[in-house]
Amino acid sequence: MAGNVYVIGHPLVQHKLTLMRNKETSTSTFRSLLREISLLLGYEVCRELPVTMVEIETPIAPMLAPMLDGKKTVIVSILRAGGGILDGMLEILPSARIGHIGLYRDPKTLTAVEYYFKVPNEMTDRDCIVVDPMLATGNSAIAAVDRLKETKPRSIRFVCLLTCPEGIKAFHGKHPDVPIYTAAIDSHLNEKSYIVPGLGDAGDRLFGTK
Ligand code: URA
Repeated sequence: MAGNVYVIGHPLVQHKLTLMRNKETSTSTFRSLLREISLLLGYEVCRELPVTMVEIETPIAPMLAPMLDGKKTVIVSILRAGGGILDGMLEILPSARIGHIGLYRDPKTLTAVEYYFKVPNEMTDRDCIVVDPMLATGNSAIAAVDRLKETKPRSIRFVCLLTCPEGIKAFHGKHPDVPIYTAAIDSHLNEKSYIVPGLGDAGDRLFGTK
């Protein structure tokens, strides 16, 4: 961990990421890999979730045993590509609550404009995991976390597949308290705001829209 950024260097994560980067990888394989890799990223992002001790009885004896503390965790997906990570995370957090944030980029101002926001009613005391495969300019992630903070959750973590120095700088410039979990920090953003070398447009590759 450096500067509140966790790079998940696990060989399985790195192997799957390489397959996803390859432009020859098909839509269906890309989709399956995103699900698999998200499960592994989810395992890491949950590492610091608080637990509380509860009394249970095993078939042999009573004991105090740890369980996740507080209300159900909320996974917040940034539309549209966040859905790919959400699916994988739900495999390990099947009872999680789900939020969605939709943002588009205003063509004139290039700022993120919200068109959809739906999260559980009671957000206080909840841990939130915001998911979006690519942390590129950081604009959507910043706007999403700005909005989410208004609901006063107990904690917020951000998970992406890939990021770059520009995205981290912008995001932590606004939200230094929100840790970033990622599989890799790539070289830079190009003039079209794509991550280089990256994997292309995550939404298009996930949904087969190009
Ligand atoms: N969004 C993507 O889907 N890919 C990038 O490289 C940058 C932003």
